Amino acid sequence: MCPYKGDEAAAGTCRPRPPVPRPRAHPKGFGRSSRSGAVSVPAWLVDEMLGRLARYLRFVGCDTAYVRGASDDELLELAAREHRVLLTRDRLLSRRCPSGFLLESPVLAEQWRAVRAAWPALPTEVSFLRCTLCNGPLRERAVDVALSADPGLPPPVRSGSAALFACRDCGHLYWEGSHTAKVRERIAAWERGELR
Ligand SMILES: [Zn+2]
Repeated sequence: MCPYKGDEAAAGTCRPRPPVPRPRAHPKGFGRSSRSGAVSVPAWLVDEMLGRLARYLRFVGCDTAYVRGASDDELLELAAREHRVLLTRDRLLSRRCPSGFLLESPVLAEQWRAVRAAWPALPTEVSFLRCTLCNGPLRERAVDVALSADPGLPPPVRSGSAALFACRDCGHLYWEGSHTAKVRERIAAWERGELR
């Protein structure tokens, strides 16, 4: 099953709107304007409490490391070694990390908007660049004989008229479908200020 499916199933629990966090300045050296004026989006490291946010950052093509079971020291070391911004809900950890960025809200929509407020260049369109399971890069894959007969793939993908992508690292397959449309709708709703 394509992992782009199903994520929307977790959508839509509306909770009381918490205070909107004030956008903080970018962690030093990350995502600042370049000489050309373009604003870069950093690579992310997402703590264990933000797994759903990690998936959405991958949906829009961001290089997003998500490590479960790591100690704070291991997260700090990884953020420094790979020059990643650490998105965390842990206030103490965010203070210890030079590239730490605290997300105070437990609500996914609010977390998304807090990141967007601090990094306006964050993509908002679903793109087939990163595996949502493992963060590996996706590459377009030709449909071979076996795939052309795979009943798990929609007919346009089997016939080669719609693109098919595969993760370089884990081999998982991705394609455009109703599931990606729902992810797009959800991100668009967040951009409008909705909480779904
Ligand atoms: Zn993968």
